[in-house]
Amino acid sequence: MLESLKDRMGGALRNLRGISKLTDSNISEALKEVRTALLSADVHFKVARDFTDRVQAQCLGEAVTQSVSPGQQAVKIIHDELVKLLGEGSTELPDKRPLRIMLVGLHGSGKTTSTGKLAYFLRKKGFTPALVACDVYRPAAIDQLEVIASKDDFHFYSDRNTQDVPKIGKEGLRFAKDKGADAILFDTAGRLQIDGDLIEEIKKLRSTIQPDEVYLVADSALGQEAVNVAKHFHEAVQLTGIILTKLDGDARGGAALSMKSITGVPIKFMGTGEKVEDFERFHPDRIAQRILGMGDVVSLVEQAQEKLDQKETERLAKKLKKAEFTLEDFLSQIQQMKKLGPLSSIMEKMPGMGNVKIGDKENNQLVRTEAIIQSMTPKERNTPNILNGNRRMRIAKGSGVQVKDVNALLKQFAQMRKMMKSMKGAKGKKMMQKMGGMAGGMPGGGGMPGGLPGGGALPDAKDFPNIPGLGL
Ligand code: GDP
Repeated sequence: MLESLKDRMGGALRNLRGISKLTDSNISEALKEVRTALLSADVHFKVARDFTDRVQAQCLGEAVTQSVSPGQQAVKIIHDELVKLLGEGSTELPDKRPLRIMLVGLHGSGKTTSTGKLAYFLRKKGFTPALVACDVYRPAAIDQLEVIASKDDFHFYSDRNTQDVPKIGKEGLRFAKDKGADAILFDTAGRLQIDGDLIEEIKKLRSTIQPDEVYLVADSALGQEAVNVAKHFHEAVQLTGIILTKLDGDARGGAALSMKSITGVPIKFMGTGEKVEDFERFHPDRIAQRILGMGDVVSLVEQAQEKLDQKETERLAKKLKKAEFTLEDFLSQIQQMKKLGPLSSIMEKMPGMGNVKIGDKENNQLVRTEAIIQSMTPKERNTPNILNGNRRMRIAKGSGVQVKDVNALLKQFAQMRKMMKSMKGAKGKKMMQKMGGMAGGMPGGGGMPGGLPGGGALPDAKDFPNIPGLGL
């Protein structure tokens, strides 16, 4: 997420952190880099200029110049300003039932997908959602919404015989009431660009259904244009929030950083993938931390609590501690970890790991490791030393790798067992503290969510599986 911005910011901050005495000229120099980073991420030039001006003024204040670590203080100021830029304050939904939400946006922005994602999100909060199809110009859009609704069992209303959108809205409300739905989501029509007819139509719909929330769904890859789009929609239908989509892609992120400050409309949610669960509440402070490479442990813990099998992770953690961890456990751990999403998204949430590049190589390695273990019998997984040359060859064939890959995994695993054993004793405990609370070594020397650099940052190591076989 926001890779290029993170990279460039990372470079600028590295220089800033090292400064022991802040002066007008070295601050200007460092902030020039920050500004370049923002501009090249497509942040509006005025937003970028105001941002660095505000940071500079604060950096030259007495509290900073006199402090023990002025560079660090400057980084903190940048962080706080970034949070303000992304939108301070609450992004909570109104505490109200029934809740009516209208979604608007350009064609292809991810509106229909986001309608389904939002419904899924609201159901987890205890709502009963109903989806109303108000995109009457593309029958495919109605079909798409219907498929989403039936897949997740949401109530669904459409009327393919009329193009009277306010009427559909009104009927949709009645339908939702009959069904006992208390979160009614209206998916409206999009265009390739904003045009008068579209605006007139959604204005009429807005006044008919009186929504509590009006969200603009905006593609984060839209760049500078996103700000204009947001301005136009806001003038027409008074937006209450923005859903920023496709943040999992290589969007430069400028839209995210400019939209709130230019329109005043907060970003409330973000789409991070094509699946219905790839949708998160937008937390400005957490995103600022991610952009600055500080990780986002809070989100990681939340995801772990929501998606992982707690009993299984506890069992694995116990086995690790007792040095009884087997390849069977290892397999279970990989499978647990996969539930948290792609490795790259896990890594970017870990402090200090934001810039670790996870590419095909690492992902393939994980897939290979899983395949190798799956080709073993349960007995072999529990006692891998019974694997002779012949069996290793069969396993390699069965999992589509070479014998040397099987051997490497077994060797790494043996080393890990040794390390686990040495960590069991009192000496090991001391060593663990020194290492920052790592719960155990991993084959491949992998970094592990179970124990982060700097340690202690996590509420409980058992909330996390470890990352095996990555060779990071
Ligand atoms: P609409 O025309 O605005 O209704 O757009 P759709 O909901 O049909 O989405 C357009 C495309 O974007 C589809 O292929 C979606 O799967 C994809 N999409 C939507 N949101 C996201 C997201 O957050 N991440 C990714 N990678 N794709 C998304």
